[in-house]
Amino acid sequence: MKQASQNTIAQNLQSIREQIHQAELQYGREPGSVQLLAVSKTRPIEDIQSALTADQHSFGENYLQDALPKIAATSEAAVEWHFIGPIQSNKTRLIAEHFDWVHTIERLKIARRLSEQRNPTLEPLNICIQVNTSAEASKSGIAPEETLPLAKQIAALPNLCLRGLMTIPAAATEFEQQRQPFRLLRELKDDLQTEGIELDTLSMGMSNDMQAAIAEGSTMVRIGTAIFGARLPRK
Ligand SMILES: *Cc1c(COP(=O)(O)O)cnc(C)c1O
Repeated sequence: MKQASQNTIAQNLQSIREQIHQAELQYGREPGSVQLLAVSKTRPIEDIQSALTADQHSFGENYLQDALPKIAATSEAAVEWHFIGPIQSNKTRLIAEHFDWVHTIERLKIARRLSEQRNPTLEPLNICIQVNTSAEASKSGIAPEETLPLAKQIAALPNLCLRGLMTIPAAATEFEQQRQPFRLLRELKDDLQTEGIELDTLSMGMSNDMQAAIAEGSTMVRIGTAIFGARLPRK
């Protein structure tokens, strides 16, 4: 399988970290307030090991079957695993057992199952609600106006810790256009906080719109291509 060289991954990570730092300065964000999540979907274990060597310790995966061997292969290292793909209800047990974060919650039923299946002796599973900020029927995520009731219900579940909101906006190339859905997500988080729901995470921004997301308050950017190169076909 094709893997990127250790050097390339280390250099890409360095460059992304610098870009995050620059964007924090440019948009008046506190230095260090934006975390980098490396999205390793379709990438081989060797690429994850290269990133680990370059001091990257949190990874996002979209497909459970692909993720499990990667999690097993790195069990000796301190790695934080984030599930960022669509969730079928028959997959919740393994997700609850093996991940630290889930970013793609849009239904109470899935959250309930994760809560029931999370071993209470582990740290609570960190949760983000995925919001559809582009009002397109094809995009996943809950409608903004349905977020508050879902957040209240999730916040009451044991073994989960509701951390924030996540979005994948429709593709846009103009910077101002890219900012709009991110602004909507930030305002939604503020509204929820006004309602007494404590949140500290805005999971937003990918390789093509990271700066716009940071300008609007992202606390976690999810970067794949800019670290590992073009996505590989799934086996
Ligand atoms: C693939 C993916 C990313 C990373 O996208 P890039 O454009 O490769 O940076 C981020 N978030 C989610 C949910 C993804 O599926």
